[in-house]
Amino acid sequence: MAAYECTEHAYDVVVVGAGGSGLRATLGMAEQGLRTACVTKVFPTRSHTVAAQGGIAASLANMGPDHWQWHMYDTVKGSDWLGDVDAMEYLAREAPAAVYELEHYGVPFSRTEDGKIYQRPFGGHTTEFGEGPPVQRTCAAADRTGHAILHTLYGQALKHNAEFFIEYFAVDLIVSGDGSCQGILAWKLDDGTMHLFNARIVVLATGGYGRAYFSATSAHTCTGDGNGMVARQGLPLQDMEFVQFHPTGIYGAGVLITEGARGEGGYLTNSEGERFMERYAPTYKDLASRDVVSRCMTLEIREGRGVGKNADHLHLHLDHLPPEALAERLPGISESARIFSGVDVTRDPIPVLPTVHYNMGGIPTNYWGEVLDPVPDDHDRVFPGLMAVGEAGCASVHGANRLGSNSLIDLVVFGRAAAVRAADVIERDAPDRPMDGSSIERAFDRFDALRYADGAVPTAALRLEMQKTMQEDAAVFRTDGTLAAGCARMNEVASRLDDIGVTDRSLIWNSDLMETLELTNLLPNALATIVSAEARKESRGAHAHENYPERDDVNWRKHTLARIDGTGVRLDYRNVHVEPLVGEKDGGIELSKIAPKARVY
Ligand SMILES: Cc1cc2nc3c(=O)[nH]c(=O)nc-3n(C[C@H](O)[C@H](O)[C@H](O)COP(=O)(O)OP(=O)(O)OC[C@H]3O[C@@H](n4cnc5c(N)ncnc54)[C@H](O)[C@@H]3O)c2cc1C
Repeated sequence: MAAYECTEHAYDVVVVGAGGSGLRATLGMAEQGLRTACVTKVFPTRSHTVAAQGGIAASLANMGPDHWQWHMYDTVKGSDWLGDVDAMEYLAREAPAAVYELEHYGVPFSRTEDGKIYQRPFGGHTTEFGEGPPVQRTCAAADRTGHAILHTLYGQALKHNAEFFIEYFAVDLIVSGDGSCQGILAWKLDDGTMHLFNARIVVLATGGYGRAYFSATSAHTCTGDGNGMVARQGLPLQDMEFVQFHPTGIYGAGVLITEGARGEGGYLTNSEGERFMERYAPTYKDLASRDVVSRCMTLEIREGRGVGKNADHLHLHLDHLPPEALAERLPGISESARIFSGVDVTRDPIPVLPTVHYNMGGIPTNYWGEVLDPVPDDHDRVFPGLMAVGEAGCASVHGANRLGSNSLIDLVVFGRAAAVRAADVIERDAPDRPMDGSSIERAFDRFDALRYADGAVPTAALRLEMQKTMQEDAAVFRTDGTLAAGCARMNEVASRLDDIGVTDRSLIWNSDLMETLELTNLLPNALATIVSAEARKESRGAHAHENYPERDDVNWRKHTLARIDGTGVRLDYRNVHVEPLVGEKDGGIELSKIAPKARVY
């Protein structure tokens, strides 16, 4: 075994990640008296959640009639009937309480004239089970909602004495021989020391893997590390083929312009100056759901109606809105547009293009955040000691497509649920278990092998190849041809990991080694995504397959499970939960309301 000195820590709960979901889980665990550590590779308030602009969905009905059942319906429809109904019900029901809780913690929400939390329209959020006009459901702190939430939650977590291990990189899970999670191995980036965290429960809150693609709105730190750790234990990743493209990334830079811009009245035009969304989605127009708008934009460009000298992007107009409204409601994106495209939004349209934004897939969990290890006769079997929340997890509330502002609410609702569940299942008086020696050894050996890797391929070169492959072959539109080619290319890329070279051997601020560890996490995510996509012979949500343009509920209303072994991916499927938590008689949703039907906006 590789020889490293190492400090041991013991906690009831170790949360990996300090984004919105990690902080809400940490705070909830600590609040209940559990010994809680939060391990994070970046300073908590630099987590990607800080970049969330538009807002957080909850049926508060501050701006007009709304109901949690309407929110649930929209989420079910948004998911293209792939989400788990129990989890979606839990989300929509708990959302208002979760937002009021944030308000009481101190989140500085924007306000209405009479002092209530301000809410804006967002794509796919409607009234009357999709029959009524758009609803204003998205609670916002100007266009810096994630920033406000993250700072507030960090303060609250500190108040409850959670312990933070900042700039510690979690390398691998430590798992017992009989199949339960016992902790993690982490590397402290600033002094090079190694740390073993013994925990009764590990919560993975490591965020998405947007950086598997070339152009993404997500931070460079969004490398799917938790998903990678889970995949290395032979556990499956779920529904990875569903990758959300946000309609409005700034052309070239990929920086996000929030959907709130269209919520406040912004609209898209093509080279003929036409508001083309009126043609595709006559009712909700520019506020149809994201997958729909992204596809329509791609079609416009393909058919030669793109703008710019290469006719390869489109325009987003805010220039018709009053400058005061832009300054009050959208100050952040006005600044982003100026910095990244040189546009003054009060005068000119912003050049935009669909850009990778969110991963619907991830680590399968139940609605308590407990990680699932399905077997043929028990699709909902729990893997003891391991939870996943936030974008890393797949509960699954977003199914094949996430509605805007439904992620921030997912972070806090399921971060809290995980804490409630942990307090139930943890035996507080039991002695700390010793961790499995061979699992520890495997983790150190992998780390050491990468540290001394002396192959010919630099990490950055291999990463770029992966990103280009994913961008080209697992894009907004997919065909049998592109997907088959993509699988072969990704397989080739992944096999070259054996020839990777790391030049820096030190342990202190070794960004070469850290990026290599991240690449070993991105690769299984990328492989699972493209292989799962290749297998799914239908179109659903974000998965638009040109050879199979229709949704096929008979054969494909099921979750994909992808297990990765080296460059190989083994696929299985898992039933979708179609039963709500609460029956109709007891105030639950009428089942006929959420029966599958065509998804039109
Ligand atoms: C630009 C942008 C705008 C968005 N706007 C909205 C919006 O308005 N509304 C909405 O609902 N959603 C929005 N989303 C989506 C939403 O913000 C994200 O899905 C969500 O913030 C993810 O939160 P998280 O807690 O899962 O993880 P993140 O916030 O991504 O945090 C991940 C955490 O994990 C830690 N971590 C990762 N790997 C390791 C490791 N190996 N070791 C230790 N720590 C690790 C990181 O340090 C970090 O603390 C937006 C996303 C983007 C990219």
